[in-house]
Amino acid sequence: MSLQFQIHSTAGSARRATLALPHGAVETPVFMPVGTQATVKAIPQHLLEELDVRILLGNTYHLYLRPGHETIRRLGGLHRFMSWGRPILTDSGGFQVFSLSDLRKVTDDGVAFRSHIDGSSHFFSPEHSMDVQIALGSDIAMAFDECTEYPADRSRARASLDRTLAWAQRSRDHFEAHKHGAPWAQRAAPSVQRSENGADASSDPLQGKIPSLFGIVQGGMFADLRRESAERLVEMDFPGYAIGGLSVGEPRELTREMIAATLPLLPAGKPRYVMGVGYPDEIAEYARMGVDMMDCVLPTRAARHGLLFTSEGRLNIKNRQYAEDHNPPDPACNCLVCRRYTRAYLRHLMQAQEPLSAVLNTLHNLAFYLETMRKVRNDVAANGKPQQPHLADAPMKR
Ligand SMILES: [Zn+2]
Repeated sequence: MSLQFQIHSTAGSARRATLALPHGAVETPVFMPVGTQATVKAIPQHLLEELDVRILLGNTYHLYLRPGHETIRRLGGLHRFMSWGRPILTDSGGFQVFSLSDLRKVTDDGVAFRSHIDGSSHFFSPEHSMDVQIALGSDIAMAFDECTEYPADRSRARASLDRTLAWAQRSRDHFEAHKHGAPWAQRAAPSVQRSENGADASSDPLQGKIPSLFGIVQGGMFADLRRESAERLVEMDFPGYAIGGLSVGEPRELTREMIAATLPLLPAGKPRYVMGVGYPDEIAEYARMGVDMMDCVLPTRAARHGLLFTSEGRLNIKNRQYAEDHNPPDPACNCLVCRRYTRAYLRHLMQAQEPLSAVLNTLHNLAFYLETMRKVRNDVAANGKPQQPHLADAPMKR
């Protein structure tokens, strides 16, 4: 079993579903906090659990460079390394290779680049990206893609799309041949008679489970190229599909237009993931359009700069007007920060550059994002049409 995607109800294009992954179930639509360096910045894992985060995103590029994927494999995989027992999705590393590294050289074979940390030379190919993600042990790996920059003209978007499709096939072939090498899949393999705690291996909840690989739709800001990308990826039969190359500087209306043009081309019975979006009202809008999964650094990064998302809009906690404000950050929020602390205190922590500032601001923003998705799920459950209980199991063909 790789993944199961069970749709409970639909309202218009929106779906309320459960995505069952090797490390647990995820209720969708879902927002996935970003844990770049095997940590969601400023938030320890037990608090992520308290927020009811069900799935995290890890960054392949960063973890490959430091501490190294082989180190993480030897330490039992990313889940064990960071003590996070719930699902993890890893990106392919492609976006960071293209956006962070110096002196990169792209060929059809892959990308040569220099580390942004120490200038050392590295090479990422689709095969290598799969090896790194399998070593990390993610529940969902992403195909290695070339994220088309914005703006890009049609010929550039076309060339990038062709390369991404060729890389998708190579990613898939290599992933299928090696996916049983995930650290936890090996631990749970039937040939291992006893698991570490002495119980029968057959009682291991990871027994028989394997990671999944999602394909990524590219095509720049050209609806017809997006269409071609989606159709050719669907022919390759991935268990889930992402829409990539958005939120790269284009106007928001264009982001929406590309998502709207692509979603109907993706199989209704499989999860759909839009990468790198967005503001709270955007993620709610995309979820209502039929997007099941999203991730973004915005709530965590903005929090560290004092920007809080609330039911009353954006609040810059650094502003002088909050110096003696005894209200919680968001009176309508029931998170552990809003239940306990005042705007005046959060502003003081920020002014004093106290580390707790990042912790509390981030906790609230994540709680607000998760609550935004919970409201969409509740709406779809309350107002939508129930679906026949059938499992859209998505085994990958060999
Ligand atoms: Zn709050």
